[in-house]
Amino acid sequence: MSNGILAFIEHKSGTVNKSSLEAIAAAQNLGEQLQQPVTAVVPGNEAAAQEIAQYDIARVIHATNAKLNEYTPDAYADALEQVVKQVDPAFVFMTHTYQVRDFAPKLAARFGKSLISDCIRAKVEGGNLGFTRRIFLGKLDADVLSDGAAPVFATFQTGAFRPDQAKKGSGATVESVAVEIGEVRMVPEAPFQEAKQAVDLTKADVIVAVGRGIKSKDNLVLAEKLADALGGDLAASRPICDADWLPIDRQIGSSGQTVAPKLYIALGISGAIQHLVGMKNSGTIVAINKDPEAPIFDIADYGIVGDLFEAVPVLTEEVKKIKGLA
Ligand SMILES: Cc1cc2nc3c(=O)[nH]c(=O)nc-3n(C[C@H](O)[C@H](O)[C@H](O)COP(=O)(O)OP(=O)(O)OC[C@H]3O[C@@H](n4cnc5c(N)ncnc54)[C@H](O)[C@@H]3O)c2cc1C
Repeated sequence: MSNGILAFIEHKSGTVNKSSLEAIAAAQNLGEQLQQPVTAVVPGNEAAAQEIAQYDIARVIHATNAKLNEYTPDAYADALEQVVKQVDPAFVFMTHTYQVRDFAPKLAARFGKSLISDCIRAKVEGGNLGFTRRIFLGKLDADVLSDGAAPVFATFQTGAFRPDQAKKGSGATVESVAVEIGEVRMVPEAPFQEAKQAVDLTKADVIVAVGRGIKSKDNLVLAEKLADALGGDLAASRPICDADWLPIDRQIGSSGQTVAPKLYIALGISGAIQHLVGMKNSGTIVAINKDPEAPIFDIADYGIVGDLFEAVPVLTEEVKKIKGLA
């Protein structure tokens, strides 16, 4: 009988992608409730496999083949198909990254299964695991149950589980498994960088995001100063990026990045659903908006109803004082 949860670990030349730890956190959390052991699979890189062995899981499978030195969907699908067959898990959990979106549907199809993708949460009820996904641009949540046949393939939206919730353990065993890989039809090129200053906001602990309330590009400096004082990154709602006030890689939301920093400060952002889906899993949300009815306040932990041009300079000075920067 199938059992256990297999968590997929993404890495870039051995550097583990932080959001992969969310797959570990999901597997540990739900595995505990389902009383299922957790195995992680790391394609290609031994150092990454050793790093993952520090987490509180039963074992790490290090899939080996020279064709796994660089990511390609063909090689990953072949490798993971064999690992899934060998481990025979009840569930395969992955974080909904670009790489996972690329190969996971192919992998699931090899088992005649669909992929329950971009889940925002999962709940154990009566011994069964149910998943929740956002549909219609985040306007509705759909509860999804698998047909029960293993393996069930699911991906979780970044932020559905926090990477710092992944518990460390006393050292899992690492098993190297040589996998066979057939024809690889893709030739990987150098990783694509959208812009020279491209930032990966998914890794930021603190984000200061600006919306249309900032009024002009010249005023961005106000938000920049607050972000600098907090050691955070600058982000924006879509109209700011559409206007080219900030590059597209700073956009948060359904057509931008999905982030889950420890602290998210929204300045002059109304809280349209397309923005909220990209940041609502942040640890603490602070909103400054002069409209007390702005929907951003529905999800904010702390809110200032007021003019950001008055509040932000004061906030920046106070942060600097506390940090001894003033
Ligand atoms: C298919 C689709 C995809 C989309 N994808 C995204 C996406 O990825 N990300 C995204 O953000 N949006 C997205 N949008 C757009 C989204 O619907 C909203 O239009 C957008 O998020 C609004 O941005 P905003 O909050 O900055 O502007 P507004 O909605 O105009 O809000 C500005 C806010 O600033 C406040 N304000 C004004 N002056 C001040 C002041 N002096 N001090 C304090 N507060 C002030 C106002 O009260 C208001 O609440 C998408 C839309 C569609 C249709």
